[in-house]
Amino acid sequence: ALPETALLEIRGLEVAFDGFRALDGVDLTVGRGELRFLIGPNGAGKTTLIDVITGLTRPTGGSVRFEGHDLVGRREHEIVRLGVGRTFQTSVVFEELTVLENIDLAASFRRPLWSLLRRRRGVSEEVTAALETTGLAGLAGSRAGVLSHGQRQWLEIGMLIVQRPRLLLLDEPVAGMSSGERERTGELLTEVARDHTVVVVEHDMDFLRRYASQVTVLHEGRVLTEGSVEQVRADPRVQEIYLGR
Ligand code: ADP
Repeated sequence: ALPETALLEIRGLEVAFDGFRALDGVDLTVGRGELRFLIGPNGAGKTTLIDVITGLTRPTGGSVRFEGHDLVGRREHEIVRLGVGRTFQTSVVFEELTVLENIDLAASFRRPLWSLLRRRRGVSEEVTAALETTGLAGLAGSRAGVLSHGQRQWLEIGMLIVQRPRLLLLDEPVAGMSSGERERTGELLTEVARDHTVVVVEHDMDFLRRYASQVTVLHEGRVLTEGSVEQVRADPRVQEIYLGR
């Protein structure tokens, strides 16, 4: 059998802003089907890393390979088309549209243009599935503008999964959530990770303890260490820079 190739392979990634290195030689490999957590103190470079993978920021050095494609120098929409989906720290839902319409619109991005001209009957299976997975079926007819902060995050995840990305990048999905919403999000991520490769930026340790399997610790633009939550937590350098705060 052929060796299982990594979905995402990052080597020597460097991002310099006016001489300051936000990323300073990052190597990161994410295998298919992984649920990987990316942690590190503020300023570690987590968002910059996601921005580089998705084409928002151009690196000053290094490479990003995704399913054999070199992502460096590609535009954001090309990277989306190759199968990389992300959430932002700021919400991107259409407040005037309903939950269902938001998900349906997101799903339409990957349908061929001619299909928009055909009269559509009912709601597609994938949209129904996304409503179920995100727990938003009961709110399908509600305007997105009335959703709670947590529900909005779940809607964004629903809008991503209907686009069938091969890699999902989630930037602090539980920030600002209540403990009940965090728990629901943890379950949602676990479920989404059954069919997708997911990279989550998060620094809530309690959340990591419950839901993370593999963790990569970024610090000052470099990978400090990687491993299970237990391994990473036991590392004295991690305790010093991260847990001690
Ligand atoms: P994290 O997400 O881990 O908190 P960031 O990736 O946001 O860290 O930031 C890493 C470092 O890069 C920070 O010191 C930040 O101030 C700096 N940085 C990020 N984006 C820019 C930019 N566009 N211009 C200059 N400095 C930036």
